[in-house]
Amino acid sequence: MVIQGSPNPPDTCVEQFASGGSTHEMTTIRTTCPLCGDVELVPGELALELTAMNGTGTYVFSCPDCGDRQRRPANHRVVAILLATGVAYEVKDDRGPITESEIARFSADLDRADWAEQLR
Ligand SMILES: [Zn+2]
Repeated sequence: MVIQGSPNPPDTCVEQFASGGSTHEMTTIRTTCPLCGDVELVPGELALELTAMNGTGTYVFSCPDCGDRQRRPANHRVVAILLATGVAYEVKDDRGPITESEIARFSADLDRADWAEQLR
C-alpha cells in the first residue's frame, strides 16, 4: 500500500480548502486488486475494521475498476496511516458473545475427573 498526496490531517486540509488554496491535493491510497492490479482510492472509499486489543485489523474496499469487494489485513503501520488519512473505522471485539461450541467445550471440561487439578 502506498499513500500519495498530502499527509496532513483532515482538519488541516479543511483549512486549506476554506482559505481557497488551489494547491489542495486529495490524498489517495494506492493498493492492489487481484484482478486489476494497482488501483487508487480516496479515504472515503475505504473502511477499516480494527481488532480490539491489538491495534491491527482489516481494511475493506470496493475496487473502483471491477467493483469487487476486497478485504486485506492491516498491520500497525497500515492502521496508523489509514487513521491519519481520515478513513472511517469500526472496532471489532473478537471476544464477542459466547458461542454454543464454547459452552459445550466448557461443559466437557467440567466432566473431566481431573478438573480440580487444573485450578492449581
Ligand atoms: Zn478490480
